[in-house]
Amino acid sequence: MLNLLDFNQPQLAAWFAEQGEKPFRAKQLMRWMHRFGVHDFERMTDIAKVLRDKLARETEIRLPQVQLEQVSNDGARKWLIGTDTANSIETVFIPEDDRGTLCISSQVGCALECTFCSTGRQGFNRNLSVSEIIGQLAIANRSLRLEPGYDLLPADERIISNVVMMGMGEPMANYDNVVTAMQIMLDDNAYGLSRRRVTLSTSGLVPAMDRLKEDCPVALAVSLHAPNDALRDVIVPINKKYPLKDLMAACNRYLEKAPRDFVTFEYVMLDGVNDTLEHAQQLIALLRQVPCKLNLIPFNPFPNSGYGTSKPHQIRVFRDMLMQAGYVVTVRKTRGEDIDAACGQLAGKVLDKTKRSEKYIAIEAVE
Ligand code: SAH
Ligand code: SF4
Repeated sequence: MLNLLDFNQPQLAAWFAEQGEKPFRAKQLMRWMHRFGVHDFERMTDIAKVLRDKLARETEIRLPQVQLEQVSNDGARKWLIGTDTANSIETVFIPEDDRGTLCISSQVGCALECTFCSTGRQGFNRNLSVSEIIGQLAIANRSLRLEPGYDLLPADERIISNVVMMGMGEPMANYDNVVTAMQIMLDDNAYGLSRRRVTLSTSGLVPAMDRLKEDCPVALAVSLHAPNDALRDVIVPINKKYPLKDLMAACNRYLEKAPRDFVTFEYVMLDGVNDTLEHAQQLIALLRQVPCKLNLIPFNPFPNSGYGTSKPHQIRVFRDMLMQAGYVVTVRKTRGEDIDAACGQLAGKVLDKTKRSEKYIAIEAVE
């Protein structure tokens, strides 16, 4: 059955037109479903009864199932969301003084095999649908609204002010569904988030970066993790296809349309692998090419990762060198560690169904 959560407003309007209905019905429906979280057609009082009955007969508004909700000592929350009987994904909420950030997944697993990433280690199962992506925002919103403290907030005040596409999966490898879901996040009749407050993080799929700047230019984060091709080829293998020179050029092209005038480079700090003074110097030279901020992420360990987290002293030295060279550098605070909700720890449940050759077809498909 047609799940109405799979459509953005223009797509819904086109569907209504096909049914011989007025396209403005799409706007009304978006408001009910997304802004007010009403999924019962009977309560959509500004839609004619005949149409409500038809919608109830022929369509559905179906969120994915929540399997488990966990709250960390530091206030972070994690939802384990079932996508089918064998697979699940994870969504994380991180409250801070001035914002509430939701970290959303885009795929069940990931085909890109970055060596330090728990999701990548599990292999790839499938892309999430639009309703499964936007559903994570709907589920988190609904559940947070019921919490003591948040339940007193006026309805128009946002608990989730920022979204980052930094959960499980490579968002650029599920391009169409991710873009449609982000368009719903930005739609004033739905969640109305500003483009600056929605961030997509990519390991560097260059052709998709060029498409995104035209289709839905949101804030961009790029997972760099290494300052030279030899090392990046090993820890972020997609680098063999799109090496640093191409990636840096794509970042500059993206900035022509981006809502912010910088790219955020993410750099996971792996003890003895990418955190030496020489690496810092190479990074200082590399980053000259692109207006940027640098976000250092202390590696979050997971069983049998084979990597260690850089020593706090080493992270400080690395950060200071880059700051002295004039860069804005932040060190990401690890949140939700006690519930395995930290960056790169999201594991969900992935039944790996890919062979190597198929994975690369999944990547080619976005080009
Ligand atoms: N696939 C996208 C988005 C998801 S990962 C990407 O790679 O950008 C979000 C961020 O967490 C990325 O920068 C990723 O490299 C980083 N990450 C992955 N595993 C990690 C780990 N174990 N510790 C810290 N950060 C990690
Ligand atoms: Fe995939 Fe991102 Fe993990 Fe790499 S870091 S394996 S691209 S989710």
